[in-house]
Amino acid sequence: MNDNKDKKPSEVVAEVNRVVIPKSCPFCGGTSVFTSEGSTFRWWVARCNECGAQAGEVRRQTLGDGTNEEWDEAARIEAIEAWNERKG
Ligand SMILES: [Zn+2]
Repeated sequence: MNDNKDKKPSEVVAEVNRVVIPKSCPFCGGTSVFTSEGSTFRWWVARCNECGAQAGEVRRQTLGDGTNEEWDEAARIEAIEAWNERKG
């Protein structure tokens, strides 16, 4: 079920970066979009590095199967997806 289980974290990251690419900022057109922790460690959010616009925060898994790195990656994907879905 989990295809990433046997891969090293670095390989998982490479896979994620290939699949989810943030769109340019709808406000300033900047392409420097980064993800970081949101208001607490349970949340992640994508932000524009140039004008500071941000998308909705997404919940990060903190319990259950997986590792912190896997949860960070999953939250990062969701944060970027939330960014990509926002209307400019
Ligand atoms: Zn911007």
